[in-house]
Amino acid sequence: MKTRPSIRHHLNDALLMSYAAGHLSEAFGLVVATHVTLCDECRARLESFEALGGAVIEAEDEAAISTEALARMMARLDVPVVSAPPKAARKTTLPAPVAAYVGGDLDAVKWRAVGGGVRQAILPTGRKATVRLLHIPAGQAVPDHGHRGTELTLVLRGAFRDATDRFGPGDLEIANEDLAHKPVAEAGEDCICLAATDAPLRFVGLMPRLLQPLFRI
Ligand code: ZN
Ligand code: ZN
Repeated sequence: MKTRPSIRHHLNDALLMSYAAGHLSEAFGLVVATHVTLCDECRARLESFEALGGAVIEAEDEAAISTEALARMMARLDVPVVSAPPKAARKTTLPAPVAAYVGGDLDAVKWRAVGGGVRQAILPTGRKATVRLLHIPAGQAVPDHGHRGTELTLVLRGAFRDATDRFGPGDLEIANEDLAHKPVAEAGEDCICLAATDAPLRFVGLMPRLLQPLFRI
């Protein structure tokens, strides 16, 4: 997939380094891998971190490298960063790493309504963190909320705005305890995002608070 020059919100170094070192949860790793397939800039930074990691390991005594570390390194070489799926001739909406979790393109997503016209589909990953696809109808808002941990939101289609900025296709918002926001999908096109969280959100409204255990959000 070709990069989008319009991407303005990127991964930070901490996330890229953790990903390169294999330390991210599966859910966060999927968001990072997906952004990297859309963004040349972050892919180049990731490659430099990986090269750095390789150099550090080379400098160590070879015998000191555990088999697990070696397996992790080898696995890293398999990350879907350079994946150019041969089936890409067929135009797909979902980037390859997401499509792999969905088991198909957008039409294969099993959406569940979460209220206010918003739909979600939780993707199957380890339970340390959760990742979901969100479908927010044009002009519609996600309920006002704060964060107990980190939330990564990557726009796949459409755009949303919150008090901080506008996020369009390929843009990634990194939210933490310091940010409370109310993302609103832009008018004109529904917004589809990939969102990962490592702790339950802190909703302001009563209804979302009551419903959140049900939606694992
Ligand atoms: Zn980027
Ligand atoms: Zn949020």
